[in-house]
Amino acid sequence: VAKPEWIDVERWLTDTVVKPGPEHERALRTAVERGMPPIEVQPTSGKLLALLVRISGARRVLEIGTLAGFSSIWMGQALPEGGHLDTLEYLPEHAGVARENLAAAGLADRVTVHVGAALDTLPSLSGPYDLVFIDADKQNNVAYLEWAVRLGRPGTVVVLDNAVWEGTLLDPAQDEANAPSIVSALELLGGSLFDATVVQTAGSKGWDGFALGVVRAQDDG
Ligand code: SAM
Repeated sequence: VAKPEWIDVERWLTDTVVKPGPEHERALRTAVERGMPPIEVQPTSGKLLALLVRISGARRVLEIGTLAGFSSIWMGQALPEGGHLDTLEYLPEHAGVARENLAAAGLADRVTVHVGAALDTLPSLSGPYDLVFIDADKQNNVAYLEWAVRLGRPGTVVVLDNAVWEGTLLDPAQDEANAPSIVSALELLGGSLFDATVVQTAGSKGWDGFALGVVRAQDDG
C-alpha cells in the first residue's frame, strides 16, 4: 500500500525531473475513462524504460503487457529512426485504447500492438530483440524470461516489473497466485542465463521493484 509521502515524492520527482508530456497524460486519462485498472508503471519508471532504450541503443524492443500504451509510448519515443516496438496484449479492449493513444502520440508506425495471449503470439515473432520489457500476468514470468532469451541475443536487456510485490517474495504464501512465479523468475534471473539486479521502488504503486538484467553469452561466466 502506497504511503502518502511516497506519492508526494513521486509527484515532485515526476514534475521536476521526468516531465511527462500530454501524450503520457492522455494514456493515463483514457485508461481511467475506459475503466481499465491503474496498473501502468509510474512515470519515473516509464522514463527509466525510455532511458534504457536510449542508453542501450535498442532498435528492436519487445513489450509483454500493453494496457493503455503508457509504457509503450515512453519506449516508442526513445527509439531511433527505423526502430520498432512490438507490444503484446491479451485483451482486445486494452489493445484498442493503446492503439488510439499510440496514434495520438505519433507512434502508430513505430509500434505494433499484437492481440492475444502472449504465449500464443510470441511464437509468431522473430528476434533478435535488443530490449524486452515484461509486465503482464505474473504466472507466466518464467516462460516470458525464457522467450526473452529465445528471441534475444547475448547482451539483450531484460526488464521485469513487479519484482518485489510488497515484499511477498520472502513469504510467497501471502499471494499464492503471483508471488511464487515472481520468486521463480528472480531465481532464473540470478542464474547462469542472465546478469541481473533488482531495484526496489516505493511510490504511487506501493512497495515494489523492477528487475534489470542482460542475457549472458554462454561463455560469459
Ligand atoms: N506495461 C503497461 C504500462 O506500464 O503501461 C502495463 C501493463 S499491465 C500491468 C498488464 C497488461 O497485461 C494488462 O493490460 C493485461 O490485460 C495484459 N495481460 C494479462 N495477461 C496477458 C497475457 N497472457 N498475454 C498478454 N497480455 C496479458
